[in-house]
Amino acid sequence: MADQNSYIDEGYIKFNCRKLDETIPTHDKLDQLIHWRREMYLKNWIGFDELYQVGFGNISISDDQGFIISGTQTGHLDQLEPMHFTSIVNYDVSANSVDCIGPLNASSETMTHAVIYENDPIEINAVIHIHNKSIWEKLMWRIPTTREDVPYGTPEMAQEIHRLFKEEQLAEKKILAMAGHEDGIITFGKTLKEAAHVLYQFEKAKF
Ligand SMILES: [Zn+2]
Repeated sequence: MADQNSYIDEGYIKFNCRKLDETIPTHDKLDQLIHWRREMYLKNWIGFDELYQVGFGNISISDDQGFIISGTQTGHLDQLEPMHFTSIVNYDVSANSVDCIGPLNASSETMTHAVIYENDPIEINAVIHIHNKSIWEKLMWRIPTTREDVPYGTPEMAQEIHRLFKEEQLAEKKILAMAGHEDGIITFGKTLKEAAHVLYQFEKAKF
């Protein structure tokens, strides 16, 4: 049985999460983060994969220093509390490393959230990463899509996301699919509500 870290870091073991201390993160919108995490959990878009015994999906909001993201090994929990979040205060894409504060570690998918915020720190304040096979299969190549040969949680994925902002109007579309990360979709917005509603729209979309 693969544990979560070996699964997440599959094919890429150099992700480095440096924990500065274990203080539980605070944020004036933490209740919204908990609310929308639960909405995603109830849809089974963030959750726990029984077959691989691994959590999937994550959700974050920006703050003055960086952002606050759901921690690793929380996918099985139906209701998160502040202690289940991690504050990202610094990151280095080329070194594939982050500095975080909180009781839990940051997952290697944290870097993907970081590069999305980096593209527009004013207009992008919330990022949601979900897994869903039918939405993924429906949307892939119809929305901005990262290349199949680019695995998640790598510096190459960061470059690929920058490319989608530059070449495929990702800033306006606010949603992308990851061809090299099965079932993986990311949405974002000025608020968590906006990011979630982009997802709901595309869930219903017919092509
Ligand atoms: Zn994922």
